[in-house]
Amino acid sequence: MKKRSSTKLIFVTGGVISSLGKGITAASTGVILKGKGFNVNVLKFDPYLNVDSGTMNPFQHGEVFVTKDGAETDLDLGHYERFLSRDMIQENNVTTGKVYSTVIEKERKGEFLGNTVQVVPHISDEIKKRIYQLFNKEDQFLICEIGGTVGDIESLPFLEAIRQIKLEFPDDVMFLHLTLIPYIRTSDELKTKPTQHSVNELRRIGIQPDFIACRSERPLYEGIKAKISLFCNVSEERVISLPDAPSIYDVPINLENQDFGNSILDFFSLVPTRKSNYMDNWKTFLKNYYAHEKEITVGIVGKYVNLTDSYMSIRESINHASSFLKVKTIIKWIESESLEKDNIDEELSGLDGILIPGGFGSRGIEGMINASKFARNANIPCFGICLGMQVMIIDLARNVLELKGAHSSEFDNKTSHPVVDLQKSQIDVEKMGGTQRLGHFPCRITKGTKAMESFGENLILERHRHRYEFNNTYKKAFEDKGIVFSGICPQNDLVEISELASHPFFLGCQFHPELQSRPLNPHSLFLMFIKKILEGRYEN
Ligand code: GLN
Repeated sequence: MKKRSSTKLIFVTGGVISSLGKGITAASTGVILKGKGFNVNVLKFDPYLNVDSGTMNPFQHGEVFVTKDGAETDLDLGHYERFLSRDMIQENNVTTGKVYSTVIEKERKGEFLGNTVQVVPHISDEIKKRIYQLFNKEDQFLICEIGGTVGDIESLPFLEAIRQIKLEFPDDVMFLHLTLIPYIRTSDELKTKPTQHSVNELRRIGIQPDFIACRSERPLYEGIKAKISLFCNVSEERVISLPDAPSIYDVPINLENQDFGNSILDFFSLVPTRKSNYMDNWKTFLKNYYAHEKEITVGIVGKYVNLTDSYMSIRESINHASSFLKVKTIIKWIESESLEKDNIDEELSGLDGILIPGGFGSRGIEGMINASKFARNANIPCFGICLGMQVMIIDLARNVLELKGAHSSEFDNKTSHPVVDLQKSQIDVEKMGGTQRLGHFPCRITKGTKAMESFGENLILERHRHRYEFNNTYKKAFEDKGIVFSGICPQNDLVEISELASHPFFLGCQFHPELQSRPLNPHSLFLMFIKKILEGRYEN
């Protein structure tokens, strides 16, 4: 008997090459469905064997996105949160590692009763379970992105699972395949052959795409859609053109302009029942995004700057706040290691603001400390996030409190002044990642501070991902020199925000505000950072 589900499934697969923007396409599809009044959830399958992204090098894999419940996930979850204005949780990101460890654990407990445990059906069943557990009455759509590229060995179990789901719920499943249509300059032509091959590969597995979205350098011209339709067995109206866009935030509009939202509703025979102004709000955001009245330059001084995906959420948070304030912010990425020589003034002068992001490991730390000192002395707004706050604390300790050799014990475990240190309770825990503060923690804001000016609330919730903390034994010494601890975790008295009262904006936070900023709701600390830069740049 045919089963029915009230949550409709849209599976997004990718063909030809990786990095085509499946995450953005999935998230943008969500935006247009939200614009039609539907609730949309998203699930990302990552075919790698790591159980989560926690131990993965940002150089290789981009930023680790932390959810409010403390899951260390793929950066696509950040796109989902930002595009859908919805918090993701642990269950929204499943890796092959997670699937296999669950199945192996069950096998060890004897739950398979003597059967041979196999990829089909045991692994594919576990994958299906992870999808079905997200079915609920509130969400009319679940968009499920299969990481990797069709043809990869790793993604086969996921494709097999979704093939089975189509068989079980034939009327509730849609396959959207994203491919590349390369442009050949010498013959001035777009080529469909790689797409034909990748669709063939999908069909060989038993999946016929319902829609094909084509990434290309330029829009698909007359005749190309017909050709893709003919060779890939998809009607012409269901071939979507996704040419390079000026920004990721234009993609929902491109899809909407091709009436993709209504095509999806037709596919599932659905009609909108609720009004929503989500798409209008999105358009307003985008209009402001391009309506620059002013221009500023912010330097990001970090360790992973040659791969800016490592700081994706920070970059986007700056974009959100800039759009809100109608300012164009040019980001200058500065390798912190390069600031360890006598070139600091030369490298940093000309910047209107400096941001020091989070990170692990000692490489480039002294350069970050130099950047903090430079911004402090030059009265340039300086925003430190996580490691960035710790770096500001070290700078203040060494150069204002005159504590010689002050450091974080992460980088010098013999320092005479461990102004940033592990908490006692953490010291004996050895398991990698086991001692991290992860996910949401409350933070109480002190009245009369910049933090209060920014948040306007007594108690906030922010996301964390770190091991080290400000060392409270130095608190009084800092306060005596005009440093204000304006955010404190009420549970354990840890310092979450520090600021310098006498400076236009020299503020560090131990949490990651960038994880909660959204295009339609920029984070207040990023807004304040940009506002203070504008005051310094245009109002003095
Ligand atoms: N390495 C620092 C710590 O573990 C900061 C971490 C971060 O910036 N996310 O505390």
